[in-house]
Amino acid sequence: MNGSATNDEGSAGAAASASGAGDGTRAVRAGLPEPVKYEPTLPGPVFAAHFHLPGDPTGPYTYGRDENPTWTRLEQAIGELEAPGRDDVQTLVFASGMAAISSVLFSQLRAGDAVVLPDDGYQVLPLVRAQLEAFGVEVRTAPTGGDAQLGVLDGAKLLWIETPSNPGLDVCDVRRLVEAAHARGALVAVDNTLATPLGQRPLELGADFAVASGTKQLTGHGDILLGYVAGRDAEAMAAVRRWRKIVGAIAGPMEAWLAHRSLATLHLRVDRQNATALKVAEALRERPEVTGLRYPGLPDDPSHKIASQQMRRYGCVVSFTLPTRARADRFLDALRLVDDATSFGGVRSTAERRGRWGGDAVPEGFIRLSVGAEDPDDLIADLVRALEESAG
Ligand SMILES: *Cc1c(COP(=O)(O)O)cnc(C)c1O
Repeated sequence: MNGSATNDEGSAGAAASASGAGDGTRAVRAGLPEPVKYEPTLPGPVFAAHFHLPGDPTGPYTYGRDENPTWTRLEQAIGELEAPGRDDVQTLVFASGMAAISSVLFSQLRAGDAVVLPDDGYQVLPLVRAQLEAFGVEVRTAPTGGDAQLGVLDGAKLLWIETPSNPGLDVCDVRRLVEAAHARGALVAVDNTLATPLGQRPLELGADFAVASGTKQLTGHGDILLGYVAGRDAEAMAAVRRWRKIVGAIAGPMEAWLAHRSLATLHLRVDRQNATALKVAEALRERPEVTGLRYPGLPDDPSHKIASQQMRRYGCVVSFTLPTRARADRFLDALRLVDDATSFGGVRSTAERRGRWGGDAVPEGFIRLSVGAEDPDDLIADLVRALEESAG
C-alpha cells in the first residue's frame, strides 16, 4: 500500500487505485479510509503534539513531529496519484516544497559527492547550491532542455531535474536521463510541481523520487504551503524520513487536511485550467507584441514532442515576453481578472513580471501567466483588452 508504512487502517481510495480507475475517480477517493458508520468520509484534522503512549514507545503515532494520522491519509492519497497500483512507493509530506526538496538533497548527499542541478529551475535552487557547496558537495549544473545533463553525469550521486521547468517551460526526456543516470549509478529526482501527478508520473518514468511543492496546482487555492516526496527505494526514503524528523519541517494538520480535501477537485481543476491554458496560448500566439510564447501543450512548442511522450496533461502555466519592462508592467496593471502575484496553479489566474525578482535568466518583459478556472472567454477577453490598453 502507498503512503506511510505505519498506516494500517486500509484505504478505500487504494481500491480505486488498484482497480485501474480513471483519474477523476482516483482523485475523489484518494486516501479515504474504509467507511465507518457515523464517521465522516474524510476524518477531520488530528491536532496532537503527542499521543497516549503507555509502555514501550512503539507503534504508528508517538510524537507529533514523527507522524500524524492526518499526514498518513494525505500521504496515502498522494501516493495513489503519483504511483497508482504500486505498493512499493512511500510518500512523505512536508511543510513546503522547499522542505521536501531540501530533505532529498541533504539526506542523500555527503561531502565529496557530486550532484547535477538545473541552471534554469526554481529560483531558490541557487541558494540550495551555495549551502550544498558549503557542506562540501560538488554541484554541477545543466539547462533543462537539450540533454546537456548527459555530459556532466559521470561520478554524480544524484541527478535533479525539473520538467517542465519553472518559469521557462523547457522539458527534458525523463526516461532517457534516468537510463543514463542509472547506468552510472546515480539516483534521479524529478520536481513534479508544475505537472502535478495527474500530468506526469516520474516514478513510472523510472525516477527514484517524485518531489513537489503542493503549494501550487496540487492544492490549487493559493492558501497553503505544502510539499511531498514519493520514492521507491525504502532505504533512501528512510533517510528522507529521518531528515524530516531532524529538521522538523512538518506540515500542520490543518494544512494537511485542507490539502487532502483539495485533492478531490484536482482532476476538475487541472482539466479546466489546462484546457484554458491551451486556449490562452493559442490566443496569445496571434498577438504581434507577444514573443517567446511557451506552452508545452502547443503542438509547435519546442517542448511538445518530448512532453507528449511523458506527460498526460501540460499544466496551467503559459509564459511569454512583451517588448519592454514598462509594457509588461502596464499590461499587468490593466488586467482585471488576473491578479499580479507570484506562485501559480491556483483557481484564480495570476501573472507576474518574472524579472522583478532577479535570479531567473529571463528578459525584462517576460511574463509568467498562471491560468485559473475562470471562463476561458472572459479570461481571453481580459488578456486581449489589457494587451491593447498597454500599447499606450
Ligand atoms: C514553488 C516551487 C517550489 C517550492 O515550493 P514551496 O512550497 O514554495 O516551498 C519548488 N519547485 C517548483 C518548481 C516550484 O514552482
